[in-house]
Amino acid sequence: MAAALYPARESATKAAVRVPSAQGFKAYEPAGEFEAYAAQHANGWALWVRWVAGDEPVPALPETMTVRVTNRGEGPGYSGVGIVTVTVAARCPQCGGPRGWDTVKTSRITEDGEHYYADAWSNPCGHLDLYADVLRESRLRPVPTTALLELPAPVPEVEPPTPDSAAGLVLAAAKERRGMHAAQAANLLVEHGMTDEAELIRTEMRARRGHLSAKAAAHLLHSGGAQ
Ligand SMILES: [Zn+2]
Repeated sequence: MAAALYPARESATKAAVRVPSAQGFKAYEPAGEFEAYAAQHANGWALWVRWVAGDEPVPALPETMTVRVTNRGEGPGYSGVGIVTVTVAARCPQCGGPRGWDTVKTSRITEDGEHYYADAWSNPCGHLDLYADVLRESRLRPVPTTALLELPAPVPEVEPPTPDSAAGLVLAAAKERRGMHAAQAANLLVEHGMTDEAELIRTEMRARRGHLSAKAAAHLLHSGGAQ
């Protein structure tokens, strides 16, 4: 849910940086329980906030989504239907809220007796994405295909983490809970008395404004970040 609307990008971005550490935001205490980002909104800049410290797994928000849409050609007149795969921002262009990237389903389109398969999704904010708009967006506003806030790909590891190490514990839990967030990994480590490792994850989460998966946290611990 959008938490606030700001006239200027700078104010929204500043607020988004302060949410994970709950600086100046009583509602987001204790620190580390919320993640936030600022995004362009039809009426300014929206601050989007999400609670990530619950028991249920919270998948990390992707920066982009790749979908199949219909292409009906540029010119006037009927030119049939084609299917193209495009990558667009995983945020609603109207309000900046998360798009329904986790609701994408194959949808069958029948035209002139032929079947075509495109993707359908529904945005939690309620704004509709029309194929023609998505196609135009992919051409006018190309997005990098790799997420900007993801950790760099881990270097091939010589030794996998041992099962009773902090990284091993988190990796095992992440395998069972798809989309596990780093906040839950930190809670898990606290339960096992590994408070230093948990604190390291929370510090990294704050630095990444909450964008950190449990898997990425495990890599961080295993790559020696826990010194
Ligand atoms: Zn929207």
